[in-house]
Amino acid sequence: MREDKVNILLVDDQPAKLLTYEAILGELGENLIKANSGEEALEHLLRTDIAVVLVDVCMPKLDGFELAALIRQHPRYQDTAIIFISAVHLTNLDQIKGYKAGAVDYVSVPVDPELLRARVTIFADLYRKTGALERLNRDLERRVAERTAELQADIAERKRTAERLLEQEKRLTYVSRLGVLGELAAGIAHEINQPLTAIATYAQASRRLLTGTTCDKEELLIAFNKIERQVLRAGEVIRGLRAFTRPTEGNRRRVNLRDLLSEVLQLAQMDARAHDTRIKLTTHPRLPQVTVDVIQIQQVVLNLVRNAIEAMACTPVVKRIVNVDVAQINENDLRVAVSDRGEGLTPEVRDNLFTPFFTTKAQGMGIGLSLCRSIINAHGGQIQVENRTGGGATFSFTLPTAAGERADT
Ligand code: ADP
Repeated sequence: MREDKVNILLVDDQPAKLLTYEAILGELGENLIKANSGEEALEHLLRTDIAVVLVDVCMPKLDGFELAALIRQHPRYQDTAIIFISAVHLTNLDQIKGYKAGAVDYVSVPVDPELLRARVTIFADLYRKTGALERLNRDLERRVAERTAELQADIAERKRTAERLLEQEKRLTYVSRLGVLGELAAGIAHEINQPLTAIATYAQASRRLLTGTTCDKEELLIAFNKIERQVLRAGEVIRGLRAFTRPTEGNRRRVNLRDLLSEVLQLAQMDARAHDTRIKLTTHPRLPQVTVDVIQIQQVVLNLVRNAIEAMACTPVVKRIVNVDVAQINENDLRVAVSDRGEGLTPEVRDNLFTPFFTTKAQGMGIGLSLCRSIINAHGGQIQVENRTGGGATFSFTLPTAAGERADT
């Protein structure tokens, strides 16, 4: 049984003849379909893919030639092979000239089985080869189309990269024109201006409450709380700046990292609450002490935690958790890891994270992480980032316990 069988349509009005053709062609192993009339043959042709039509020229209603003419009208069957079986000896092919468009042949009666098989085999093989060629062509076309799409995607990606680089270059040109200090000044002014404006607004509201006829204590308390919060915020900006500008050596002392973290996380709680986020601290009860500049390390943690909180702006509230883990990873190093469940880092963000002034936030300054890295490196540690498997990012830094102590002495 061959796998690539083709359909051969046998058309004759005499069932006995059909059976004879069937017997002769049976051993070819092709699929034989019988039709008793031209009409029936047409039905088959419309339904199935036919490789060869074997047709009796002499049939009562629709004779073989008429049927062939109809078959040829159909675009799909322009090339279908037709073998006429004729009782009249066709000395030349004149009678079938009209159908020369495709493969045409004839066999005279009495049918020579060998000859008929040979003819049908030639056309069936031709059909198979044409089919294979068409498939090959389609495959080639598909592969060309795929490759073209790939190349187009590649070109689009390169274009995007070029645009990004241009954007980055523009930004850097701007920064160099403005000067790093100018850019910093603009950012700081913005950071401090925000809480100051809020303080002014709440102070005015408090005055209105106090000078009014009645004073709602509850409302006054809310206004004072807000003022206090904004003062703390402004204080933090200043604190952060001091942390980044003070000399790194000389201010170091031996501390327990757990205490340092609990203190700084209390400050971060305010931000966390405002963003419906929880902060979870996990530490080992007996960690070796480290020798660090407390203000600087607190600033690093604060930065990482704030970035983590902001990264979860689109995370469902129940999942908004920042995990802060401290662990001793080997004899000489402690590791602090801050994980969030945000969207993680795209390759582009990841490549530029530590570049000064790189930010994706509308209000961002883009200096936090670059400064964090200089602080950690100055302490002899390393800062690292990786995407979490369940989504989100983990920023972690190491602090050498021994090296820290040496730096202190
Ligand atoms: P800023 O916060 O002012 O943008 P940073 O240097 O702290 O400056 O961060 C730079 C950029 O790194 C951010 O704008 C943000 O795109 C990305 N980033 C930082 N932390 C995270 C985080 N936890 N998840 C996703 N992206 C982050």
